[in-house]
Amino acid sequence: MQDVFEKLRGLQDILSRKILIETEIRDIPKTMATKSELVNRLKKSYIEKNNLYEQVREKINSIKTRMSEAEQLREKYESQMDIIKTQREYEALDKEIRDASEKEMQYRKDLQKEEKVLEEMKYGLEREESMIKAQEAELNDEMEKIKSQSEEKRHLLKQLEKEEQQLVPGLNEEMLFKFDRIIRSKSGLGIVPLKRGVCTGCHMILPVQFVNEVRTGEGILFCPYCSRILFYEEDGEEAVYQDEAEGLSDIVDFDLEDENEFDEEDLLDEDDESGEERRSRSS
Ligand SMILES: [Zn+2]
Repeated sequence: MQDVFEKLRGLQDILSRKILIETEIRDIPKTMATKSELVNRLKKSYIEKNNLYEQVREKINSIKTRMSEAEQLREKYESQMDIIKTQREYEALDKEIRDASEKEMQYRKDLQKEEKVLEEMKYGLEREESMIKAQEAELNDEMEKIKSQSEEKRHLLKQLEKEEQQLVPGLNEEMLFKFDRIIRSKSGLGIVPLKRGVCTGCHMILPVQFVNEVRTGEGILFCPYCSRILFYEEDGEEAVYQDEAEGLSDIVDFDLEDENEFDEEDLLDEDDESGEERRSRSS
């Protein structure tokens, strides 16, 4: 039986390490997603800004078109200056030329303004682009690290499984299944010592008969409260006996004291009664 407990303790160590690594492996995609989230956010913002940039560029193109139309119109009117004959014709044409020039100038102003905006946007985009590249490079490094770490973890897991297979032979399959589940649900502890009549896993006081069964060590016994496998710890046992003896004598003493007190109280009560009697008699 001690051999079985020894194996179970070894198995407990292997299983809890295995569970930890399994959890870490399971969390790898989550970790990777979190890390790539920042880069994705930057990319999304970059795309949005790039769309705005394209819009400004389109606007500039349309201003340029209108500006050149105004320019052509002005030039056309200017060329007509040579063939006018009357003052009225001159004034009308002169007004057209001035209007066209004004438009042209306004478009030029707008163009300068938009080109400045575009220039700033371009600068911002370039800066973001290099930031994204840096972040992506960093992310790739981290991903590589995580990948190699996860390979190491998988390797370690296989090794632990091998060690597990070496310990398992001769152990009851159903008990092993239960043991594995307990370790998974009870944060790595599936076999605990029973000390002073108490399960050290859940600290519940166990029935005396059950404690005796664990003490004989003839079979695998599970704590009725937390389901952990229990083994008897001899070292704790001597202390238990002493403590229990002390406890018992305490209880005995206490009981005696209690009785004494009770007696005294009884006497007091009698005194009280007699006092009352006396009072009732005197009244
Ligand atoms: Zn327990």
